[in-house]
Amino acid sequence: MSDFIPPAKPIIGDDEREAVDRVLRSGMVAQGPEVAAFEAEFSAHFVQGRPAVAVNSGTAGLHLGLLAAGVGPGDEVIVPSFTFAATGNSVALTGATPVFVDIEPDTFTLDPDAVAAAVTSKTRGVLPVHLYGHPARMRELEALAAATGIALYEDAAQAHGAALDGRPVGTFGEFAMFSLYPTKNMTSGEGGMVSTATDETARMVKLLRNQGMERQYENEVIGFNARMTDIHAAIGRVQLTKVDGWTKTRQDNAAFLDANLRGVVVPPVADTAVHVYHQYTVRVPEDRDGFVKALKEEYSVGAGVYYPIPNHRLPSLAHFAPGVELPETERAAREVVSLPVHPSLSQNDLERIVAAVNAVAGAGA
Ligand SMILES: *Cc1c(COP(=O)(O)O)cnc(C)c1O
Repeated sequence: MSDFIPPAKPIIGDDEREAVDRVLRSGMVAQGPEVAAFEAEFSAHFVQGRPAVAVNSGTAGLHLGLLAAGVGPGDEVIVPSFTFAATGNSVALTGATPVFVDIEPDTFTLDPDAVAAAVTSKTRGVLPVHLYGHPARMRELEALAAATGIALYEDAAQAHGAALDGRPVGTFGEFAMFSLYPTKNMTSGEGGMVSTATDETARMVKLLRNQGMERQYENEVIGFNARMTDIHAAIGRVQLTKVDGWTKTRQDNAAFLDANLRGVVVPPVADTAVHVYHQYTVRVPEDRDGFVKALKEEYSVGAGVYYPIPNHRLPSLAHFAPGVELPETERAAREVVSLPVHPSLSQNDLERIVAAVNAVAGAGA
């Protein structure tokens, strides 16, 4: 049997090891100058110089961003159900109610009409997810936010470098979160980055990250310890110098798959959108689970299902969604398969993926 092609593979090299060693030798490992430098570099690289605040996970970034934006008990925040549970969890952790709405079928991102229909007098904001690295329908959501007075936030966990109409994700919302978990498009080990529209929101995220302190022992609000370490920031700074090359390789890999796959529905890209292919996700309308199993067992191709259970039906979150029905979300959860697209794939790997998918999809037809 050929070597297994994993669905994701973090790239960590000598440069990252040397950067960690440099911090360890300095003897100063907690949040310090590396974190400050990483924030400034990330801000210039991805969000056109907006304030950026590093935290110890993407989930913490969402939670603190929502708190800094004033979300709390009694509020509703509209979220997709077809996403990682951290999206809805972070809303629930503020004491607010996540309101799950449906996605549009092409890009798997929030359906703006469904969002409009879900707005109530309690709606504080909407938290679209740029799922798989494709930007959500920000033009429509921005217009809706302006028309209704609700706030716009962004879950950009999977979308470093994605853009719409020439505008990078992370620059639309009152705040946006990027995850730096190892399988994301770049990593710091664990970590998250929060970009904000205003210095005021950035300051509040910084306070919440550090026990409510700006000046030592003068705690202004009740906060967390959600600080990033200088060790993690040093890894992130190195990755930041490489991520554009990796994204280009992801896009080239996706173009090869688009051109050669048969018998599955390849991922469409909206006009004026830049897709960064955190995942390359196809639809397999018949027997998706059999398809994934055959790829793995017969062809050693690792494929992932993100996400098999919609959040509004998870045991943890279902109580927020009694009687809610989201047909496009359910269909996506039944049909999606993410094929390897990561930058470590060789040409031979790509050809094996194509041959395997075309054989399995052809056999099922
Ligand atoms: C990964 C992810 C998160 C959470 O980020 P962590 O860094 O793992 O805490 C949130 N939302 C989405 C869509 C994600 O993919």
